[in-house]
Amino acid sequence: MARYIGPVCKLCRREEQKLFLKGSKCTSPKCPLEKKSYPPGQHGTRRRFKQSEYGIQLREKQKVRRMYGLLETQFRNYFEKAERQKGITSENLLQLLERRLDNIVYRLGFAPSRRTARQLVSHRHFLVNDKRVNIPSYILMPGDVVRVKDKSKKLELIHNSMKKIREGKLLSWLDLDKAGMQGTLLSNPSRADIPLEVNESLIVELYSK
Ligand code: SF4
Repeated sequence: MARYIGPVCKLCRREEQKLFLKGSKCTSPKCPLEKKSYPPGQHGTRRRFKQSEYGIQLREKQKVRRMYGLLETQFRNYFEKAERQKGITSENLLQLLERRLDNIVYRLGFAPSRRTARQLVSHRHFLVNDKRVNIPSYILMPGDVVRVKDKSKKLELIHNSMKKIREGKLLSWLDLDKAGMQGTLLSNPSRADIPLEVNESLIVELYSK
């Protein structure tokens, strides 16, 4: 599946917000956003003009799309799926994105970032309900169990990431069995339970034009 392969820190600088794309570096003083808070490129430091309504909506959409590492067409497809579902489209959209297998692997703490989680899933290190799944976009249903494959339980990358899991910090809609290296999606997350600093209603406004 196609994906962005350019420098990721540039994406955060473009959005002028931490998108947490590089694992532990994102919370360390090495994060470029700790020093440079202006967008990349030779015009990045220029005085900026007031953004148009369209510009604000576009930036919010780009931010969410980049957080989950999706290309425009893939993101648009999620939006259309969310629109067809019952309920609030913006909330449906975030729920769909959060229930992606690569995101769940990241949220459970098996990977330091969504990008790494995607790689681990593609390399067949996880089972869903005891079946091997190597599709990062696989959407989990409440009750689904994600488990690190027995052969992969010694992977340093997964262990290092799991060491950083802080007790009591797990999201309420997930359950983690640290010793068994498996986690369960307990329910569909509500908006309040999704820790994302974004205004998703702007995405709906953008796509509804
Ligand atoms: Fe973004 Fe992380 Fe790079 Fe900082 S270190 S700019 S948060 S990807």
